[in-house]
Amino acid sequence: MANYESKNHRGYHRDRNQRPHQDQRRARQTERVQVEVGQRFPLTIKRMGINGEGIGYYKRMAVFVPGALTNEEAVVEVTSVATRYLRAKVHRIRKTSPHRVEPRDSYADQVGGFELEHLDYPAQLAFKRDVVAQALERYQPEGFHSYDLRPTLGMKDPYGYRNKAQFQVRRNAEGQVEAGLYAERSHDLIDLPTCSVQMPVTMTVMRAVVAMLQDLDMPIYDEEQKSGIVKTLVVRAAAHTDDVQLVFITNSPKLPHKRELLERIANELPQVTSVMQNINPGETSLVWGDDTRHLAGAEAITEKLGDLTFKLSARAFLQLNPAQTEVLYDEAKKALDLQPGQTVVDAYAGIGTIGLSLADVAAEVRGMEIIPEAVDDANANAAANGITNAHYEVGTAEDLLPKWVMAGFRPDAIVVDPPRTGLDATLIETILAIRPSKLVYVSCNPSTLAKDLVDLTADYRVEYIQSVDMMPQTARCEAVVKLTRRQ
Ligand code: SAH
Repeated sequence: MANYESKNHRGYHRDRNQRPHQDQRRARQTERVQVEVGQRFPLTIKRMGINGEGIGYYKRMAVFVPGALTNEEAVVEVTSVATRYLRAKVHRIRKTSPHRVEPRDSYADQVGGFELEHLDYPAQLAFKRDVVAQALERYQPEGFHSYDLRPTLGMKDPYGYRNKAQFQVRRNAEGQVEAGLYAERSHDLIDLPTCSVQMPVTMTVMRAVVAMLQDLDMPIYDEEQKSGIVKTLVVRAAAHTDDVQLVFITNSPKLPHKRELLERIANELPQVTSVMQNINPGETSLVWGDDTRHLAGAEAITEKLGDLTFKLSARAFLQLNPAQTEVLYDEAKKALDLQPGQTVVDAYAGIGTIGLSLADVAAEVRGMEIIPEAVDDANANAAANGITNAHYEVGTAEDLLPKWVMAGFRPDAIVVDPPRTGLDATLIETILAIRPSKLVYVSCNPSTLAKDLVDLTADYRVEYIQSVDMMPQTARCEAVVKLTRRQ
C-alpha cells in the first residue's frame, strides 16, 4: 500500500523548487496551527486523494480522512499530526454525499482493498480519471493541460471479479481457524467469511479449506510464538477454463495430516484442479518462499486471454481481473496500432501476455522480465500457442534494451508495463535515444506515470490517456497512454 507521506513529500519538494515564497508562507502557517491527536473539528471534504481518502483543510492544513467523500461535511477526529498535514477519522457525518452507498463488505473500512466501496460506481470511475488529472497537475508534463483524458472504462458488474484470494490464516483466541487480511497498518487479522470482490469459487474453496484445517486440527502458524505450520492460503481461479489452484504456504516442508487433507480436497472440492505447497520458513515480510512443491492434481492452471492460452504456475503474475485484463490489453493494442512487419518490445512482460497478443501482427516480439519463472512461462506460452516470432529474456528492461540496441535491434514500437515504481531513468534515456515511433505506457500508478511523462514528453506527444478500472471498489487506477514520436 502506498503511503501518503512519500507521495506528498515528493509533491512539496517540487513546490519548494518552484514557489519558494508560497512554501515559506505555508511553513509559517503550519507552525502556528496547534493540533493534537484526538481533537475534533468540523471539516468540508474538497476532493479525494490518490488513496481514496477525503481531503479537507483545517486552518489551511490538508487533512486526510479515509472514508469521507467529496462535498461531505463531517466532524472529524485527528488521528495523527505531521508537519504539513493531518490524518483524521470520521466522527460523524453532517452532510452526506448523494454518491455514498452502503458497502457490501462489513469490514470495508478496516482492511485495504475496499477504499471506495462506499462510493457509487459511476463516481468511482470519475474518481479514477481525476486521479490521473491530479497526478498530471502535480508533475506538469509538457502540454498536460490539453491531454485527452478519456472516461474510465469500467465493469458492468463491479463485484466478484478477483481471480485470486491470498489470505493469512491464524487460530484466534477461541481456537477457531480464521482466514483473511490484516487490518491496515497492523498485524490484526480480520476474518473474511465472504468477500464481494472475489470470484465466488475462490471464496467457496477458501472457506471449505479453512473448515478442513479446523477439523483436522492442523498446526496453524503463530506469529508471536513463531511456531506452527500453515501461514497463508492462496486460491487462484481461471475465469475461462474453470481451473482452480490451491496453494498452502507453510513455515516448514512438513504438512501434518497431508493424506487426509488431500483426500478431503479431492472429495469435497472437485473444482480444485491443482494443489501446491510453497515453503516460506520463519519470520519474513514476504508471503512467498522460494521452494514450491507439487501436492496433487496438475502443477499449473490454464487461463485464456483473447485467442491465447496461458499456463500459470503458482507464482506467475497475472492481472487480478480477467474480464478487464482483456479490456486493458485491447486498449494497449489499439494504442500501439502495430503495422505488419514492425518489431515490438514487451517491457516488464510478466508471462508475456501483452507481447504474445501482438505477435500475429508483429515481425518480431522481444520481451524482458526479472522473474526467471515468469520468463520460462512466457517462452513456454509462446510455444504452446504456436508463436515462433516472440522471445523473452530474464533481466531488467533498463539493462536489456540498451544491450539489444547495441547488438543492432531497433524496435519500431515499445510497450512498457512497469510496477508501481514506474520506469527506470536508464530505460527512459534509452527510449529517448533510440526514439521508436510508437510507445505505449500501461501504468498502474498515476503518480509515477505523470513523473515519467515529464521526461518522455521531451520527444513524445501524449495522444490520449485511457484509464481502465481493473480493481473496482479500490482506489487503484490503471491507464493506457498512447505516445507518438514528435517529428
Ligand atoms: N505485462 C505483464 C506484467 C506487468 S506487472 C502483465 O500485464 O501481466 C510488472 C512486471 O514487471 C512484473 O512481472 C515484475 O516482475 C516486472 N519487473 C519489475 N521490475 C522490472 C524491471 N526493472 N525490468 C523488467 N521487468 C521488471
